[in-house]
Amino acid sequence: MTEKPRRSGGKGPRRANPPSNAPEGTFKPSPTRRGRTTPPSPRREGGPVYLTDMDQAAMEELALSLGQPRFRGRQLFHWVHGRLETDLNRMSNLPGGFATQLAEEHPVVHAASVRETVSADGETRKRLLQMPDGQRVETVLMEARGPGREVDRYTVCVSSQVGCALGCSFCVTGQVGFVRQLSQGEIVEQVYGFERWLRETSPERGEGEQRFVTNVVYMGMGEPMANYEAVMASVRLLTDPEGLGLGARRITLSTAGLVPGIHRLADEGLPLGLAISLHAPNDQLRDRLMPVNRRYPIASLLGAAAKYAEKTGRRVTYEYSLIEGVNDSVAQARELARVLGGQLCHVNLIPVNVSLDPTLRSSNPKRVAAFRKALEEAHIPCTLRQSRGQDILAACGQLRYTAENSDEG
Ligand code: SAH
Ligand code: SF4
Repeated sequence: MTEKPRRSGGKGPRRANPPSNAPEGTFKPSPTRRGRTTPPSPRREGGPVYLTDMDQAAMEELALSLGQPRFRGRQLFHWVHGRLETDLNRMSNLPGGFATQLAEEHPVVHAASVRETVSADGETRKRLLQMPDGQRVETVLMEARGPGREVDRYTVCVSSQVGCALGCSFCVTGQVGFVRQLSQGEIVEQVYGFERWLRETSPERGEGEQRFVTNVVYMGMGEPMANYEAVMASVRLLTDPEGLGLGARRITLSTAGLVPGIHRLADEGLPLGLAISLHAPNDQLRDRLMPVNRRYPIASLLGAAAKYAEKTGRRVTYEYSLIEGVNDSVAQARELARVLGGQLCHVNLIPVNVSLDPTLRSSNPKRVAAFRKALEEAHIPCTLRQSRGQDILAACGQLRYTAENSDEG
């Protein structure tokens, strides 16, 4: 890091439950946990159940099953998901016997960070995490600065699967193929690792000085809608007031367009951000770039997005990666504007990052500007997002690919 960023005291977004130094044991059971079914068992065949996979109800059940009172489960939840403690021996208000029982069968975390890269400007930090079965996923922390150049957002980009089955032509993860689902614990740990680092490196402990994760985007490896249960369980963990207490509005799921998942999400009644990776203004081209379109064509996708916007009141973001000579002409911008006209939406233009396919090149700045102008003239709100941390390959799937294709592995 080149400088010590700090959160401004009164300005910028606040998390519902910024990390406190309040003594443990002062929390109350969360009403949002009541009546919920425990998320699907993340236990892999014969393996242990990790504590980060468990919500409060599951931890209460666990405490009872080990002969402990129910409230021990709540205390445990606060240690694991609120204080982010990874060492059972440091959970000071748990009786030693309980910690020993847990240690035998319930490791706290899955992930170990095996590589960290920081961009030259210090604003993007990428980690490669290794899971106990040797699988690796990437996760990225990005700083965003406000008008006064102070950091006002810390966004973590998480992976939701190891690999991805959807095979988009421009995406490195898609070319790797699907390996396995991530559990909710493996997803939240990606956030927890950076949150822990932000807390530990906060310049001071005074009010308004602490650094913490403010936003989470599911835009790393994998398709969140194809791992719906675990993704939603991870969202509930991240928004739990006894955990990090992130606001649902600060969490964005990005999907390549699994339409039934979007409908299901709309029915959750949560104001999560929704980003749709569109990348083409018509089915003919989208079929080619994103095979998922053959199953769920643009009209069905837009119908689901409209329902989502109506139910949540949130405008949907469309991601559009500009690929030179493929989807970046002014005529295609106008076609896109016609397709999106009347939708509560926003378009994010991103010059495509390096992919495995050498024929897919990033649009040059002139074409990008012309495309953007055509959208603006058609009154489609849009922003141009320069891909963050280019120098550390922060694009979808690329760190994993680079690591696995180098000698260091
Ligand atoms: N599977 C989900 C989320 C993960 S991909 C989805 O597709 O939306 C996150 C974003 O990165 C998506 O918008 C995806 O289209 C984009 N992406 C993938 N490969 C890219 C590349 N080479 N350059 C630019 N964006 C890319
Ligand atoms: Fe999967 Fe998203 Fe990559 Fe497509 S862009 S292959 S959906 S991760």
